[in-house]
Amino acid sequence: MDLTFATSSEIAAAVKNGKVTALEVTRHFMSRVQTLDKQINAFVTVNEKAEEAAKAVDAKIAAGKDPGALAGVPVAVKDLLCTKGLRTTASSKILGNFIPPYSSTVVSRLEAAGAITIGKTSLDEFGMGSSNENAASGIVRNPWNPEYVPGGSSGGSAAALSARMASAAIGTDTGGSIRQPASFCGLFGIKPTYGRVSRFGIIAFASSLDQAGPMAHSTADCALMLETISGACSHDSTSASLEVPKWSQLLKDDVKGMRIGLPREYFAEKLDPDVDRVTKEAIEALKARGATTVEISLPLVKHAVPVYYLVATAEASANLARYDGMRFGHRSSNAAHGDLDDLYSRSRGEGFGPEVKRRIMLGTYALSSGYYDAYYAKASQVRRLIRDEFLKAFESCDVILSPVCTSPAFKIGERINDPLEMYLNDIFTTSTNLAGLPGMSVPAGYSSKGLPIGVQLMGRHWDEAKMFNVSLAIENALGAAKARRPHVI
Ligand code: GLN
Repeated sequence: MDLTFATSSEIAAAVKNGKVTALEVTRHFMSRVQTLDKQINAFVTVNEKAEEAAKAVDAKIAAGKDPGALAGVPVAVKDLLCTKGLRTTASSKILGNFIPPYSSTVVSRLEAAGAITIGKTSLDEFGMGSSNENAASGIVRNPWNPEYVPGGSSGGSAAALSARMASAAIGTDTGGSIRQPASFCGLFGIKPTYGRVSRFGIIAFASSLDQAGPMAHSTADCALMLETISGACSHDSTSASLEVPKWSQLLKDDVKGMRIGLPREYFAEKLDPDVDRVTKEAIEALKARGATTVEISLPLVKHAVPVYYLVATAEASANLARYDGMRFGHRSSNAAHGDLDDLYSRSRGEGFGPEVKRRIMLGTYALSSGYYDAYYAKASQVRRLIRDEFLKAFESCDVILSPVCTSPAFKIGERINDPLEMYLNDIFTTSTNLAGLPGMSVPAGYSSKGLPIGVQLMGRHWDEAKMFNVSLAIENALGAAKARRPHVI
């Protein structure tokens, strides 16, 4: 069996049937990390206890017990999710030595299902960015072309997975951080409906927007991963107590009669010609399989980026207040003796990177008295209207399709000095977070330079099933995910 290119469900089946041991699988992927990650820099921390965990899975099988649906599947976990006993940094200097005393629900559920946490992957510090250039552990390279960014903020997860240093990965998405890197690295990635996945043990960026979700090499693996991590959790009151469908068993690629909504405003943006072409090819493929397209209009979406950057920074400024050198995080040794304010400001000044500082300042301003009504309160009102607009649009369609981004991956260094240009990269992804809707990136083709391009699917609240349905239709029709391999492998 070629472990490198096997799907996660194939690996789990082989481990369960004794064709390969979980330990062999773990060693295989670990050795890929050792050789490939020198070039890619996707991992912040490799899990030294991965082999031990794999042995425990093998012991379970030897004892005749059920090892779980992800038996022996090596998963790369974004370094924003707490892992008990395994360093978790949020790619920030301020948490450089943080060893969590407990695991996030997502990681506990994966491990209970037999998955092996192979390591913790790099991100833009605290999830803030679109290129993985804001990480304390350095930039991450795109395995399709090492001069390009892998996207962000879950860039390490996407790069690790696309270079096949893991079989599946976990990202988080506050404004596009699963979907955009998935698109840039040729992967399937889903941000589920807000409340589908517990946020317990995930370092908070913007609590009303954050959701974790999987990245994978196929629709089926994405579905399997998502059903494992979803569902109510007593530690997160915003997690929904709805039943979690067994998406992996309900998969179909028949889209006959399905209505695909195409938002006029998304296509009016200045699109890179390759993105335009690939998006149209995906639409044609769905039509050829019997889907119909409906033009819809989402006029308020043009406000999504400013609304997002008010809401997200406001919440971030509150969430990041705990890193003060006393309660959490790096403590400066340069503060004046007995001066608590000096200790706070020096600890934060030394620990946070420039983008995080910018966001804290923006968010603090938006929440300050005298400006609150004009900025935060107004943004919250427009957010509600954006949600209503989507709900109205879903009266005439089942799934909405759009580009994920206006362009394929950009070059390292190209946008990092222009924050506004970087923020505008989020134009197509932030609205689903604001509305709480599920969104997915599906590999659909390649640019003329050979970089992957995904299309975005957006569904009604709790209707991930239809997105998986359309995703599988695109996967089977275009075969883009399997058509080419990244430069490094
Ligand atoms: N690029 C967006 C930002 O910088 C989204 C980040 C995310 O989803 N975590 O905020």
